[in-house]
Amino acid sequence: MLDYNHRPGIAERVNAAIDAALIAEREATPPRTYLGASRLGHACERALQFEFAGAPKDEGADFGGQTLRIFEIGHQLEDLAIRWLRAAGIDLYTRKGNRPDGEQFGFSVAGGRIRGHVDGIIAAAPAPLGIGTPALWECKTMNAKNWRVCVKDGVAVAKPVYAAQIALYQAYMEATVPGISANPALFTAINKDTAELHHEQVAFDAALAQRMSDRGVRILQATDAGELLPRIATSRDFFECRFCPWAARCWGLPA
Ligand code: SF4
Repeated sequence: MLDYNHRPGIAERVNAAIDAALIAEREATPPRTYLGASRLGHACERALQFEFAGAPKDEGADFGGQTLRIFEIGHQLEDLAIRWLRAAGIDLYTRKGNRPDGEQFGFSVAGGRIRGHVDGIIAAAPAPLGIGTPALWECKTMNAKNWRVCVKDGVAVAKPVYAAQIALYQAYMEATVPGISANPALFTAINKDTAELHHEQVAFDAALAQRMSDRGVRILQATDAGELLPRIATSRDFFECRFCPWAARCWGLPA
């Protein structure tokens, strides 16, 4: 008897159809017209400039189906984390009015050219948890290796991009949620491989927020002036450059 589940090529055919559908969805999504505050801690200012300006990525460097699925799984896990925190008695707001169709909390500065959307705001928490409110909530998902480093070293050392994001969000959300920067943010990291959870309180780092905000202004000003910010490295072999989707564009330029 024929085993249709194991017919040669079924996995490839279905997988390819899913990949094609996800890539088509992605391509139909209008590109961002602003600098995402969640990205401002990226190591290379030039890469951020390419991203903000919408420079086409190098051939083959765009997100494939697998990466798009990784992003989507991360979003779904964040929804689970919301459920878990609420089950633990934390009054967590993720959308205005706490309605599923409500707008996400966020901010828009520099004439709308720098924006961010926050994962959530903790309005109240059971006293034994020791969470001062209001507090920013930020959630990330990681593979087991990255998660373990994050637990060992803390988010500021292990994931400086996330720490920069948290500091900026605490600073910029203060206008609409007074007191949010006076309380440490709650950072949740989910281990995608084991479902283990890490929680960490992150005190507001005003100097980091200022540095990141200055960085955003520098990127906007350089882009407006048609100037390219310096590379992060002197060699294309540098770690960041090896994984940069604009590496060919960048290193093909005179400087
Ligand atoms: S290739 Fe390297 S220097 Fe150039 S934009 Fe990318 S990370 Fe920056």
